[in-house]
Amino acid sequence: MQISQGQLNTLAYCPRRFQHTYLEQLSVPPNPDQQAALTLGDRFHLLMQQRELGLAIAPMQRSSQEEAQIYDAVERFLASAPEVLRRDRVQFRQSEHRRTLPLDSFLLTVVYDLLILEPDQAEILDWKIYATVPSPAILKDNWQHKLYPFVLAETSNYSPEQITLSYWFVRPHVAQTEAPPTHLKFPYNRDTHEQTRQELQQILMTLTAYLHQFETRNSLPQVAEGSDRCSHCPFAIRCQRIRSSSPTNDAVPSLDEIDEIVI
Ligand code: SF4
Repeated sequence: MQISQGQLNTLAYCPRRFQHTYLEQLSVPPNPDQQAALTLGDRFHLLMQQRELGLAIAPMQRSSQEEAQIYDAVERFLASAPEVLRRDRVQFRQSEHRRTLPLDSFLLTVVYDLLILEPDQAEILDWKIYATVPSPAILKDNWQHKLYPFVLAETSNYSPEQITLSYWFVRPHVAQTEAPPTHLKFPYNRDTHEQTRQELQQILMTLTAYLHQFETRNSLPQVAEGSDRCSHCPFAIRCQRIRSSSPTNDAVPSLDEIDEIVI
């Protein structure tokens, strides 16, 4: 079974949510704001990847105002972060670089937005299209932060001390003068590496037990009743953590009251 940082985050958030999302493959459509944010992030990542591949992106895709805005955000970002474009001493650089590490009976899978390898150091870069910049403590608590350098250290000749993880926070809808890209860079080390190994072994052991439990009982644990997590979860109704609001007869007009639409 392939395991990504997203799956580990979901499992840590709530085992039942992991069940619904990955074992039962249920999905809830994002609301319009969430969808807009997802589209913006996807477009930014795609343009960065195309640019890295040397593809001419500007003339083809600047068709809409939205596209132009994202394209400008990419250009402004790169102009203010020239180190992202560096090629001196670089032995290897690749966007959307995928690595897989077998651990226990799982395949840990990572996809780096950009990986830059130099003779004596390696940098993993990650683009974040967020409205606000999270605190370092929140970033460090995310499985992405732990898994990305761990997998690189385990699948390369770089020591943990030679690896860094860089986040670039970009806000395409805000003028660059008001919100320039924010760069947060985290060094890695052997102690953190071994701590992550222990945490991984623990959570994968838990996951193995949950997978057996799902086969026999079809049901993984929920978070405690009254948890804040349920109020932000798309499965709250399914989990009976909030009631669905059923429309009353007043809310639904009779067919006779609905005007005919001329086609
Ligand atoms: S509603 Fe609560 S218990 Fe159910 S999946 Fe979401 S977080 Fe877990």
